[in-house]
Amino acid sequence: MSQERVLVLGAGITGLVCAYELAKAGASPVLLEAQNRVGGKVFSPAGSRDGLIFEAGPDSFVTTKPAALELAIELGLEDRLLTTHAEKKGMWVYTRGRLRRFPEGLLLMAPTKIRAFLASDVVGWPAKIRMAGDFFLPAGARDYDESVGAFAARRFGVEAAESFINPVMAGIHSGDPDRLSLKSTFPQFFEMERKYGSVWRAMRAASGKRPPARPGRTMFMTLQGGLQSLTDALAARLPAGTVHTGARVESLAQAAPGRYEARLAGGECVTANRVVCSLPAPVCAPMLEGISPAAAAELGAVVFASTSTVSLAYDAAAVPAAIGEGFGFVIDRREKRTISGATYSSTKFPGRVPAGTALVRCFAGGAGNESALDCSDEELAGKVRSDLAGIAGLEAEPLETRVARWPNASPQYNVGHDARVGRIHAALAAAPGLILAGASYKGIGLPDCVRSGREAARAALGVAGSAGAVV
Ligand SMILES: Cc1cc2nc3c(=O)[nH]c(=O)nc-3n(C[C@H](O)[C@H](O)[C@H](O)COP(=O)(O)OP(=O)(O)OC[C@H]3O[C@@H](n4cnc5c(N)ncnc54)[C@H](O)[C@@H]3O)c2cc1C
Repeated sequence: MSQERVLVLGAGITGLVCAYELAKAGASPVLLEAQNRVGGKVFSPAGSRDGLIFEAGPDSFVTTKPAALELAIELGLEDRLLTTHAEKKGMWVYTRGRLRRFPEGLLLMAPTKIRAFLASDVVGWPAKIRMAGDFFLPAGARDYDESVGAFAARRFGVEAAESFINPVMAGIHSGDPDRLSLKSTFPQFFEMERKYGSVWRAMRAASGKRPPARPGRTMFMTLQGGLQSLTDALAARLPAGTVHTGARVESLAQAAPGRYEARLAGGECVTANRVVCSLPAPVCAPMLEGISPAAAAELGAVVFASTSTVSLAYDAAAVPAAIGEGFGFVIDRREKRTISGATYSSTKFPGRVPAGTALVRCFAGGAGNESALDCSDEELAGKVRSDLAGIAGLEAEPLETRVARWPNASPQYNVGHDARVGRIHAALAAAPGLILAGASYKGIGLPDCVRSGREAARAALGVAGSAGAVV
């Protein structure tokens, strides 16, 4: 392989976007991927029924950060975009022994429709009154990196934090709310408090300024045929010979300043003076030991959690009516269940499954709950079904069940993450032309990864001879 090519390690969405952007700019990327397929965590295996697609990893992307949506359109997938159900937006939280409906207009921690909030039983009256304390409490210290759980409890009280704020916010990251950094996971709330002194006040100031919903767009969107159509479309746009699957990189060495040698499991060596490493941080850490021990140590300290998705397809006639009325539920951790929540996939995205089929996707594991995964797939599916029966009254026999396991796959942006990423970036001064990208650093969602892949390509095109970077 030519020494002037840009080497991209890992063909998850980040590496694919990076290679795609490099190829668009006329460069010659070489994309090395350990598995025999591209896409990384984006994986949409087909079920045994015609038109039934499971999502093993992500099942949708947010459009408030438009990078993933824009990419889908750029790749010609606009016709396959699916919006969430316009009317059946119900979400529940399982707390105090039963499912309770989120009131309309509740945006994570702030009600925008006060009457609906007051009428709801998501928390009791003392907790509602305590939540309003957010209006009056002083703001926290300007640069204090605080956990999501501590922030929610400080501003809204422990009961609201535990009952519904933590389950939603920590659920997105499969994380422990008492460890996840607010600044790194929900920087918008961190900023709201700094700027307005109160989240509710900030929300009030923003209401009326929100752009009207665009027809054909919803906050979450997905693709008919599964999200893998996005990563497959990226791979299909790459010049022949770009992607090398089954190419596990075992080590990376800096042969001379700004000159790298990647050694593959088969013994082959690939050299380049620009390398984009879009591998998870724990995989990068040992590779960087000889290049920047300081960066390697920091990379090794990024915590990753193990998770699992368990998807169950049912005859729609056999599931309780509520499953056709909303997007799913989250669970108050005090309820001590195996699952942390469930998405009613077939209701959330109509047209995603064959007619007459209901699809429910449950989440298990995550930081602090990983022992729930210490069992066989059959046992895990059994525990999930027992939770679904107890929580949602779903007792029917599934037509098909898929368990997907993601060991050490979810980066935990715990308190101090932001500062750690800064230290990794600084340590890469010793590694000209080496760029670290992907979900481990500045955002785990698909739009964040698309942004990171694009920035990595820009950096790789511009940095030959200059310091390395985290993007
Ligand atoms: C269960 C689950 C549900 C999620 N749900 C959502 C969601 O609904 N919406 C959303 O926006 N985000 C979601 N996410 C997050 C999102 O899917 C990921 O953050 C994102 O896909 C990560 O992309 P990446 O390219 O950074 O990394 P990865 O997808 O991890 O890609 C890294 C690639 O590197 C390869 N690799 C590893 N080691 C080597 C090596 N030594 N040599 C060569 N290649 C190697 C891997 O095989 C992999 O292909 C979810 C994640 C999980 C796990």
